[in-house]
Amino acid sequence: MTDVTREAMEYDVVIVGAGPAGLSAAIRLKQLDAELDVMVLEKGSGVGAHILSGAVLDPCGLDALIPDWKDRGAPLNTPVTDDNFYLLGEGGKVRVPNWPMPPLMSNHGNYIVSMGNVCRWMAEQAEELGVEIFPGMSCSELVYGDDGSVRGVVAGEFGRNPDGTPGPSYEPGMELLGKYVLLSEGVRGSLAKEVIEKYELAKGHEPQKYGLGMKEIWEIDPDKHRPGSVTHTMGWPLGKNAGGGSFIYHLENNQVYVGFVVHLNYTNPHVYPYMEFQRFKHHPMVAELLQGGKRVAYGARAISEGGYQSMPKMVAPGVALLGCSVGMVNVPRIKGNHNAMLSGKAAAEAAHEALEAGRGGDELTAYEDEVRNGAIGKDLRKVRNVKPMWSRWGLTASLTLGGLDMWTNTLGFSLFGTMGHGKSDAAATEPAEKHAPIDYPKPDGKLSFDRLTNVSFSMTNHEENQPVHLTLKDPDVPISVNLPKYAEPAQRYCPAGVYEVVQEEGKEPKFVINFQNCVHCKTCDIKDPSQNINWVTPQGGDGPNYPNM
Ligand SMILES: Cc1cc2nc3c(=O)[nH]c(=O)nc-3n(C[C@H](O)[C@H](O)[C@H](O)COP(=O)(O)OP(=O)(O)OC[C@H]3O[C@@H](n4cnc5c(N)ncnc54)[C@H](O)[C@@H]3O)c2cc1C
Repeated sequence: MTDVTREAMEYDVVIVGAGPAGLSAAIRLKQLDAELDVMVLEKGSGVGAHILSGAVLDPCGLDALIPDWKDRGAPLNTPVTDDNFYLLGEGGKVRVPNWPMPPLMSNHGNYIVSMGNVCRWMAEQAEELGVEIFPGMSCSELVYGDDGSVRGVVAGEFGRNPDGTPGPSYEPGMELLGKYVLLSEGVRGSLAKEVIEKYELAKGHEPQKYGLGMKEIWEIDPDKHRPGSVTHTMGWPLGKNAGGGSFIYHLENNQVYVGFVVHLNYTNPHVYPYMEFQRFKHHPMVAELLQGGKRVAYGARAISEGGYQSMPKMVAPGVALLGCSVGMVNVPRIKGNHNAMLSGKAAAEAAHEALEAGRGGDELTAYEDEVRNGAIGKDLRKVRNVKPMWSRWGLTASLTLGGLDMWTNTLGFSLFGTMGHGKSDAAATEPAEKHAPIDYPKPDGKLSFDRLTNVSFSMTNHEENQPVHLTLKDPDVPISVNLPKYAEPAQRYCPAGVYEVVQEEGKEPKFVINFQNCVHCKTCDIKDPSQNINWVTPQGGDGPNYPNM
């Protein structure tokens, strides 16, 4: 799609993605030099429209970036008041006490927030400083210089026909060029993926690992609402089928975030993460909380879980990867927003120093040094073995040995060194014949909902008349390989019901992609066992329209 002539605009720094990482970079750049030309491009219809976190926010990133955030009215309104952790069985629960947990696991001093609202507020701060923010602008391509460096991005292309040819209202978009391009697309960013492959940035690092996070907002009976309460669970219903767990965070206005994460390294292709989430809400502890309430929003997003050893090289000529485009989630804490903010700040400081020295288009190595050796590296190093232990030895080992390892790491050493992850999540999937299908109960429409009904609560919308953004490298693979070998798991791992295998009597089965439903979680790009699905950005403004996720 490079056969089009486009106008170009030059900036000092072009930032892709208005999440906590991108907005932090923009804010820091303008704090350091008000004269810099800084732009942020966001594919969501507005800032926050595609943001989905738990979220319990560790404010250390915000403290470093905007120390007077309280006076500036940042929407951190609900301090964490209590922290509960349960191991669930089908009908019961065991509370794991807080005292054996290392201090890093404490949520004291953290806040339950809507990250969508935090990002909207950060965007206001950025705009006050003179940052130009353009929502509704998908960055669909990278622009390379003659020397092979990244020069910019193409954004704002609209109106292609489904076959890719320009339609009647075609807009070619623009080339937005910068001395540096910062990719803060979040987990499994499509441009970041290209950069990682082109410059072989993942070479010598462990594969990135992922989870699928699904989340609903519930309005509950005020008598049951405890603002500031944080609960995490593990165990039922996943059992041995997959790793993962839940979160239940009570925010303001009688609302509760109910979320569920399924690690995507599960081997059994019959696992249906969405249905695991729905089943979880029928546990007596959860059902009692939600009964009489109503679900007001739904969304899903992949979460990076590889941690310290999976961070690829994060700089290449003219470009740097930020936040979860690198993978900066502290897995046992289920927190990445603080590191996303710190990475944005660090990238901005490195870019500013380079620009002051008259540089441009080179590698921001100072940024990578700061991430690996500064606060982010320290945060992630301490917990680096929890996920590999869980993958290899299961939940109990990750709780006991992982707990021990986090303690010794807090004291400065590890008995386990740095453990590897081994396979990618796609490669972990085993043939269907090795596993029994799982019989999931039907949603009751009160506590649990069918997938398509829930997708309508993500307010997802895609212009129908455009190319399908879930591209198949080989269109035959779903039916010729994935169906016989893996019972085509796309039908189940997608939390939005995008993929269907339609089997009509007397006809060959057909693979159908309902791209209109896509909530941009990127799970298909990650988990397809044949690595045949490539997620690319649809037109700007399309996708979910999350409220206060
Ligand atoms: C279910 C779940 C629960 C979580 N809970 C917590 C928690 O409680 N606490 C915590 O700290 N962290 C939590 N996290 C992790 C946290 O969400 C991430 O670490 C954080 O979002 C990373 O920030 P980011 O800025 O790198 O990316 P994101 O927040 O994902 O932002 C990326 C932005 O870039 C935009 N974008 C992407 N590609 C393009 C493109 N090509 N063109 C234009 N725009 C683009 C996206 O629309 C998005 O707005 C959770 C994650 C999940 C999935």
